[in-house]
Amino acid sequence: MMNVILLGPPGAGKGTQARILVDGRGMVQLSTGDMLRAAKDSGTPLGQKVAGVMARGELVTDEIVIGLIEEHLREQTDAPGFIFDGFPRTLAQADALGLLLSRLGRRLDAVIVMEVDDTALVERITARSTCGSCGEVYNDQTKPIPADGKCSNCGGTEFKRRADDNEESLRTRLLAYYKETSPLIGYYHAKGDLFRVDGLGEIDEVSAAIGKVLDNL
Ligand code: AMP
Repeated sequence: MMNVILLGPPGAGKGTQARILVDGRGMVQLSTGDMLRAAKDSGTPLGQKVAGVMARGELVTDEIVIGLIEEHLREQTDAPGFIFDGFPRTLAQADALGLLLSRLGRRLDAVIVMEVDDTALVERITARSTCGSCGEVYNDQTKPIPADGKCSNCGGTEFKRRADDNEESLRTRLLAYYKETSPLIGYYHAKGDLFRVDGLGEIDEVSAAIGKVLDNL
């Protein structure tokens, strides 16, 4: 049983690595970005409320995302462990997560910071797409959609690009990361939970580095 936060700027590869941990270790991925996009796509009142904020690349309120995480944590009491992907993003969210986990009798085992440089981020984000059926992540340069047009994971034929993966929203998302989220690195370092991983390597190199951290806990 292990609970891990993947921390890093947009485009660092958190979602890709979270999926690998789900497949390899049976952990449960909790991505607030995915939850919010699902709410937006199904047109729920919450989805309508957050659509504009997300499109601009700003942060949704702490109250909303903490509520979503609490709901999912309470629903999945038998999960072998959680990977928090894109949450927490503010100090208030980090405090709330600590409280929620301890109330549920769980603890945070590691916070893994995926380090990448900003030029690589812009390149990655503007090149990325995902399978509309299973969410497999592709990149025009490093992992293109297969030539037969079928997802290598599920055979799906529809691929999506995120509406907020454009340069203007990306600038806002990067600013939000440095202003609101990067202080969490110091916060978790002080708590003794922090591990740094070079996020610039190939996908399997990065996942091997993360695996090593988790195996040594
Ligand atoms: P992501 O898929 O993690 O890049 O999230 C996409 C967008 O959803 C972000 O740009 C925010 O608008 C919103 N969002 C996701 N997670 C959070 C969070 N923990 N706190 C605030 N806003 C969030």
